Amino acid sequence: MAAILGGGLGGLSTGYYLLKNNISHNNNLKLFLLEATNQCGGWIKTIRTKDYLFEQGPRTIRPKGVVGLNTLNMMQDLGLSEHISPIKPDHPAAKNRMIYVNNTLHLLPSSLKGVFQTNGPFSKPLIYALFNDLKQPHKELKDDSIYNFVERRFGKEIADYAISPMICGICAGDAKEISVKFLMKTLFEYEQNHGGVMKGWMKSMFSAKTSNDIELTDLAKVAKEEKWSVYTIKGGLETFPTILETYLKDNDVNMQLNTKVEEIEFVDSSLVKLKKSDGEVLTASHVYSTIPAHVLAKLIEKQHPELSQNLKQIPFVTVGIVNLYFATNKPLITPAFGFLIPPIENSPILGVVFDSCCIPDQKGTVLTVMLGGRWFKEKFGEGVSNERLLNIALKEIQAILKIDDAPAAYNVSILDKCIPQYVIGHYERVDKIRQYIQKSNLPISLVGSSYDGVGVNDVIFSAKTQVEEDCINSK
Ligand SMILES: Cc1cc2nc3c(=O)[nH]c(=O)nc-3n(C[C@H](O)[C@H](O)[C@H](O)COP(=O)(O)OP(=O)(O)OC[C@H]3O[C@@H](n4cnc5c(N)ncnc54)[C@H](O)[C@@H]3O)c2cc1C
Repeated sequence: MAAILGGGLGGLSTGYYLLKNNISHNNNLKLFLLEATNQCGGWIKTIRTKDYLFEQGPRTIRPKGVVGLNTLNMMQDLGLSEHISPIKPDHPAAKNRMIYVNNTLHLLPSSLKGVFQTNGPFSKPLIYALFNDLKQPHKELKDDSIYNFVERRFGKEIADYAISPMICGICAGDAKEISVKFLMKTLFEYEQNHGGVMKGWMKSMFSAKTSNDIELTDLAKVAKEEKWSVYTIKGGLETFPTILETYLKDNDVNMQLNTKVEEIEFVDSSLVKLKKSDGEVLTASHVYSTIPAHVLAKLIEKQHPELSQNLKQIPFVTVGIVNLYFATNKPLITPAFGFLIPPIENSPILGVVFDSCCIPDQKGTVLTVMLGGRWFKEKFGEGVSNERLLNIALKEIQAILKIDDAPAAYNVSILDKCIPQYVIGHYERVDKIRQYIQKSNLPISLVGSSYDGVGVNDVIFSAKTQVEEDCINSK
């Protein structure tokens, strides 16, 4: 019997890949999925009404790269192709992304032409950043913050106004703490191996290309051909975990909701005991943990304090989400994906997504304001109320977007410790954690956003990789 811990996207995808790899059928292995709450999906939660849709967690998925195409393959296999709503390159949400600096919204360049022009808040055309890279001396490092790396190679303005808000948008984190390998591993390797990003990039043009291609379904082929920027799911992203859950149930996975695992005891290399909140103990030959690292740390602390300590060192941040619906027909916003605010501006909000522009079939104007993240406690202290977050969000959108109307509907959620932070040394820490597990022969695989990437695609790909590695090891 194999047990999957957690019913977020990581847990559901693990179940999917275990079934696809015929693990349960070949070995007559029963699969269990244990989820603490009363529903699957983890951070993916959609509130749907006939007029608007509020996403409390993720809303868009990137179709690019192996991980993006892999998700599309899974979507087609699950029959979700018809539900996908792509944002193509000519869509305003693909072209118009803004940052808010010095009390002004600035459009970021979205074409090659834009890179040669001076666009506020940058004082020079972005192309100048490349000259900066060519001038810099070599500096040998094992890891660095993404902010330091970008400042060193491309200058402070790019670090402050391009990378720092981008990190806020991706993981609500501080670019001064996040590892350069989180987004720019290849560029960092160019710098370390060839003395500069441009030098490394030029050398790479003449070296043999390694192909990471995967077989593509029709849906993935269309996304690639049409160069989708991102995509959403009609009716909300929650449709995705719902369909996955049904797939697992239809294939006899024993789904146990409202079942929190409180302790894990490893007996030997093929026996593990899971103590559940109802007092029962479930035994399994292998566990796939897809719960956050800090939660897993507590469950294994008694038996493996060193492993627990390493898991606890992966930090998480809390994000406030304020979804707003304005029923009016008059246009309240310029069509765009939304805007981000660089941390240097010291704003209580991280940014605003213009949902009515990105997500189809919505009436009026729908916005989502994101607050806090790495700075949540510093800005709002302990025990902040939903009402205070709502008031802050409304005040900010009034000041920035000049929206004076009262929202016809809203939803406020405080997502406690929802996004892991891949700080400097993260990748080495995850290696150390997995080496400990291997050396100690513990029958556990680690999947989910704590380890191999924080986005939807990464979590799905992490499940695929771990399941396939286990298949190879068990042969
Ligand atoms: C606000 C926000 C916006 C985001 N936006 C995007 C986006 O636009 N695009 C994108 O690609 N990604 C986005 N993400 C990231 C994406 O949501 C995550 O990568 C993904 O949902 C993580 O899935 P997971 O299964 O790893 O973890 P989780 O969703 O955390 O699932 C873990 C599950 O384990 C359960 N659990 C915890 N403890 C126990 C226990 N002891 N016993 C049993 N069950 C337990 C939890 O209840 C939960 O259901 C966003 C995330 C957030 C928070």
